[in-house]
Amino acid sequence: MIVSAPSGAGKTSICRKILRMFPDLRFSVSYTTRLPRPGEVNGKDYIFISEDDFRARIARGEFIEWVENYGQLYGTSKKATKAFLEQGCDLILDIEPRGAKAIREHYPRSVSVFILPPSLSDLKSRLAKRGENAAVMERRLQTSLDEIREALWYDYIIFNERLDEAVDQFRAVYIAEKSRRDRCTERVEAFFK
Ligand code: 5GP
Repeated sequence: MIVSAPSGAGKTSICRKILRMFPDLRFSVSYTTRLPRPGEVNGKDYIFISEDDFRARIARGEFIEWVENYGQLYGTSKKATKAFLEQGCDLILDIEPRGAKAIREHYPRSVSVFILPPSLSDLKSRLAKRGENAAVMERRLQTSLDEIREALWYDYIIFNERLDEAVDQFRAVYIAEKSRRDRCTERVEAFFK
């Protein structure tokens, strides 16, 4: 499950709630060069590494995709993703649209979900609550608008007006996607065997 959203749309809260509901659904922990924010845990929210380390990993081909975002590097580990999927787990990848496109190409059966705030004014006030300085906020707003344009090629769009409803919608998408015929054929064939 690829999840993208402009910052301030409530993506992290939705993902946390969903992850608690489905034990076989795991969070794909990305690598990043940015510093941890208060409360973020290394290995859980991100794997925080230096730029040199990140670049060495790029050179070794360790990422399925990686991007530079706000001057920092972010990437999805090939090895960790493969290991989870081989264990039969599903994954939530919280990544921005360029990464989402790359993952879709790499894993055509992935499902992409774009989370949007109910309105632009709502997005602005959510960004303001993060307490970053005005320049950072303005930059994030511009990036958010660019990202919102990308929403149109995602499989699903969820407007996060009320958190519980948005979580419910996400849950519905996940359950419906798990029930698709092409994901169940092996189990059906077992009946005939
Ligand atoms: P933040 O620094 O706010 O945690 O994340 C900034 C942006 O980077 C978010 O849109 C987040 O989804 C995205 N991001 C986080 N990890 C990855 C990754 O591994 N690959 C890509 N392409 N984007 C990522």
